[in-house]
Amino acid sequence: MLLSRFNRLFKKIHNTYSYWAYRELQKSGYIIHSSYFIHTNFDFDRTRFRTSGRIIYVDAYYIPEEQSCPICGFTALSKNGHIKKTVKHCTYYTMLFVVTCHIQAYKCQHCHSFFYEKDPFSNPNETLSKESVFIILDKLKQANTTFESIAKDLHISRQNVIDVFDRYVDYSPGELPSILSLDEKHVNKRMTENTYLFIIVDFKNVKIFDIVYSRHKYAIERYFNKIPLEQRKKVLAITMDMWEPYKEVCERYFINAIIAVDSFHVMETINQAMDKIRISVEQKFNLKTENIEDNHIYYYMIKKFKFFFVKELDDIGDNYFYVRKLGARFTKQQILKYLLDIDEKLEKAYYLTAQYREFNKACVRSNCEEELEAILDRFYASGLAPFFEVAKTISTWKKYIINSFVVVPDALTKPKTAIEEPKPRRLSNGAIEGLNAIIEKINLNGNGYSNFYRFRNRCIYVINKDVPIKNTPIKLKKQSK
Ligand SMILES: [Zn+2]
Repeated sequence: MLLSRFNRLFKKIHNTYSYWAYRELQKSGYIIHSSYFIHTNFDFDRTRFRTSGRIIYVDAYYIPEEQSCPICGFTALSKNGHIKKTVKHCTYYTMLFVVTCHIQAYKCQHCHSFFYEKDPFSNPNETLSKESVFIILDKLKQANTTFESIAKDLHISRQNVIDVFDRYVDYSPGELPSILSLDEKHVNKRMTENTYLFIIVDFKNVKIFDIVYSRHKYAIERYFNKIPLEQRKKVLAITMDMWEPYKEVCERYFINAIIAVDSFHVMETINQAMDKIRISVEQKFNLKTENIEDNHIYYYMIKKFKFFFVKELDDIGDNYFYVRKLGARFTKQQILKYLLDIDEKLEKAYYLTAQYREFNKACVRSNCEEELEAILDRFYASGLAPFFEVAKTISTWKKYIINSFVVVPDALTKPKTAIEEPKPRRLSNGAIEGLNAIIEKINLNGNGYSNFYRFRNRCIYVINKDVPIKNTPIKLKKQSK
């Protein structure tokens, strides 16, 4: 009685998951052989179950099919016992099936060769059923899962999960996209000798093209050197931070590409100059009291409202600001006036920063060159050392800053109507921010990967939704942890 209930349950679970998995597979458009999810035709009348805690041991037999000798095609065969293959089947949350498939062996009566019936439940040399493999790979697509958490969910070992990932997922980049965005990601030293990884992003599709183990010049050169010139010639634009080695390598390896410096990055260096001035003024009034409330009112106000110096006034909320030390409420306009009246340098630096911010926001390719020249003149003439330094940097990168005003159709925001053109987008590293956050999440959740190659594969597998799963899993050379 109990046994037939179990049989029905198993059949039900199994069929449900086959169907579910197959549907998911179609939805995500995997390049994968459909025979992965062929219906497993266990003979449930012969199949036996035994439970032990959360584990259900299954002795499974296939429904016999018409067989013929694979060598000579003869159909007169004699049965020659069974071989057993045990795999884990972890498609059901609360329990783990340990399935021993009894695979029928045959002997051909004509040519005397031996062979076995088909075993569609698992792949050769695999310790997990095909569906388990699929479920693990599906869970690994989420940035917040770890090898550990999946192992715990499915009642298998962490190494089981890692092995599945290493064997079925091995990303290799295709053709270079027409626009590249370059960035780096700080990681711990456990992974590679280098603290910064080099990230190449497909600007248009907001996907990772590749992750390289180091952002050092020689590493980048070695990487691009392996890509044929014909392919590199097709790259038309590259966006990057103001990082000299990137620029040098790109000018050499991508002869048809314009290089654009990310405008957010430039704005950041100007904000840093602003901060330097702000801190120097702030320190003039610092009475070094234990409690900030007892400090000089200027020190107090500058410190409390330091964000006013690097933000557009329109972007600061319209609510009143209560200043406890003065016991009064102020509008944001009043606060700004108060701050700028403290010191001439502070005021000058504020307006220089605001001018650049406005230039960056409002200018277009046709007028930006002239405007930038005018701003640089003001920076140089300001008498403020940090702004003089920034002006020097900007002058060096001027051509590339101007290139950042080039717009390209944004392929990601789909036009609402057929006639409408896609919204233009400036060349920038903006899209990378989101990807970088996902990489950071994977890095943190994984508690610091020690294997760079695995980390690279995992990040790309999570971010690019179309990384193919291997039809023939890779044989692992050695057990890696
Ligand atoms: Zn034969």
